[in-house]
Amino acid sequence: EEDDILPEKDAEYENLLAEKLEIEENRVRSLQETRKLLPVYQYRDDLLRAIRENQILIIVGETGSGKTTQLPQYLVEDGYTEAGKLQIAVTQPRRVAATSVASRVADEMNVVLGNEVGYSIRFEDKTNGKTILKYMTDGMLLREVLVDPELKKYSCVMIDEAHERTLATDILLGLLKDILLHRKDLKLLVSSATMNAAKFSHFFNGCPIFNVPGRRYPVDIHYTLQPEANYLQAAISTIFQIHTSQPLPGDILVFLTGQEEIESARQKIEEIAGKVSSSIAPMILAPIYANLPQEQQELIFLKTPSNSRKIVLATNIAETSLTIDGIKFVIDPGYVKENSFVPSTGMTQLVTVPCSRASVDQRAGRAGRVGPGKCYRLFTKWSYYNELELMPKPEILRTNLSSVVLLLLSLGISDLINFPMLDKPSISSLTSSLEDLYLLGALNSKGKITRLGRIMCEFPCEPQFAKVIHTSATHDQCKGVLEECVDTVAMLHEAMSLFAGQKEQSSEFLGEVSSDHMLYLQIYQEWRDYNYSRAWCRDHKLQYKTLCRVRNIRNQLWNCAEKLGLVAMNEIAKRQEVDVAEKLPIKLTKCFIAGFPTNIAQLGTTGYRTVGKKSTSGLNVYVHPSSILNKQLRDSARKPSKYVLYQTLMLTSREFMRDCIPIYDDAWLLEMIPQVFKRKAR
Ligand code: ADP
Ligand code: MG
Repeated sequence: EEDDILPEKDAEYENLLAEKLEIEENRVRSLQETRKLLPVYQYRDDLLRAIRENQILIIVGETGSGKTTQLPQYLVEDGYTEAGKLQIAVTQPRRVAATSVASRVADEMNVVLGNEVGYSIRFEDKTNGKTILKYMTDGMLLREVLVDPELKKYSCVMIDEAHERTLATDILLGLLKDILLHRKDLKLLVSSATMNAAKFSHFFNGCPIFNVPGRRYPVDIHYTLQPEANYLQAAISTIFQIHTSQPLPGDILVFLTGQEEIESARQKIEEIAGKVSSSIAPMILAPIYANLPQEQQELIFLKTPSNSRKIVLATNIAETSLTIDGIKFVIDPGYVKENSFVPSTGMTQLVTVPCSRASVDQRAGRAGRVGPGKCYRLFTKWSYYNELELMPKPEILRTNLSSVVLLLLSLGISDLINFPMLDKPSISSLTSSLEDLYLLGALNSKGKITRLGRIMCEFPCEPQFAKVIHTSATHDQCKGVLEECVDTVAMLHEAMSLFAGQKEQSSEFLGEVSSDHMLYLQIYQEWRDYNYSRAWCRDHKLQYKTLCRVRNIRNQLWNCAEKLGLVAMNEIAKRQEVDVAEKLPIKLTKCFIAGFPTNIAQLGTTGYRTVGKKSTSGLNVYVHPSSILNKQLRDSARKPSKYVLYQTLMLTSREFMRDCIPIYDDAWLLEMIPQVFKRKAR
């Protein structure tokens, strides 16, 4: 009997296998054919020749022409990785771009992501010994220069999206200028959208520019007649207007400023669509922003069924970094969220600002890739011509430079003024970051990097957080709380996307907590004690994915502390100390005072005012509504603390302090940061 059945089963199985194989072969073949349709493909041989003949090449081309996904593959095909001995690095300003593009290229090369093609972003390394093509954030390559100053494992470096002019990209270009002199065999490709190309060429002593002509269909631009009071509302009604009046197919791309805005837009659209769903074609909502879980990111690239319309809600990641096929309509409110150095506070803050003309033009272009398109600008024509800046301002001119200054100093580059840079930061901004580093003890009074400064460089976080961690294991007054500090620092990195509902709701179960920092710490430790459970997160309205990221960050910081011997020192301290648990809140506070000596506000007759650096004190600041200190302030029986330490200032209607610790005793300030507080507290 068995003999009868078996052959039949086998045949069935083989049929199935053959079918699967065919699907797979078709997929690979169609990916290969798609590659050949991209504009860069026509220039493949010319490009490879130009790269062979020049050490440095600037490559300019329309977004979507295939620079990011194809060029690195051409280099591999041309033998630059020497059969796996050398690697090719491709930098991206944004994490999402690095991971998404790596995954696409792994598909195209038919390899498993993380093997031959991988990516490396902060707190996540998906590469292994086989990796030859490595997509990474520019910040990660910058860190690699620290351990490998000549970038020896690479045969080619492609600085992609150079026109974005992030701080890390600018510094990398400066460093590479020197590295290339020592490594004649290293190739540098700088790729950029059309703006700025001449400037890059000039920076590299007139190196050639290779232009890849792209296809572009005309895009009709529509402006609003009056300025929009509420651009989110306007964007949503424009979506429905397009959806109900324009024929299919034709997807819509909407540019919003960040996660919160995108999620709130998504909710509102779903609400409206739910009410009218019977009378309109199906809408597929596809958000894309930095913290979106990977599996949801893929959604933006899925082909839209012919009866529906895809609505992509994106940050300016979709401006040049990611190309989504099938977009016919762009809705552009004209805003972007960016780092901005606020002289009055001396700090870098995320603020929403109007885009530059170059940016909004780039955004409009996204509508004309598949055919003629339309772009709806939610601002006036007058504003376009009279109010918008021509070009975006490079990050180096608008951000705090402490981290990169420390990095350059640790590389032995002390002549910061003459370090080659596309745009030089102002002397005052350089001096201000030197002052910050000095207050942290990373530099001595002569401006030389200290041992502590070198330790700070080892940590994959801002020097301020590194100082907090270092203090918690070594300082006489607070040692023994390393683990708690590491957990808290990790939580602060993700604090913005921790809560699924209201912060107060999620933390009720903890009862009284003395500061936002203690709250984060307790949440993390509870979760840990519940075996990192997903159900526990659901019960407390916490984002499970976010907490998983926190755990990963926490482990990396911990490993780093271990390597530096801090874990061992902390163990000794813990054995010597009694009642560590009871002293924890005070110790934690002191560690953060040591790390953030200038983030302190003092209570006066009119509320809190910043103190700290002389140049930036005296600003009125308010506890952010989301802070648990607010609850304490509402409780009138309680006296507000004399000082508050804040993690960040956020400018909305007022200058708000986010994530705060109350400081009841000014002796702590004197003790931890006499260099700042000697003169004031007495
Ligand atoms: P450029 O860098 O010149 O802007 P890219 O190499 O990023 O161009 O894009 C080339 C093509 O690859 C585009 O048509 C884009 O839609 C496609 N592509 C890129 N990433 C993905 C992805 N993750 N899934 C599907 N298609 C993708
Ligand atoms: Mg690209």
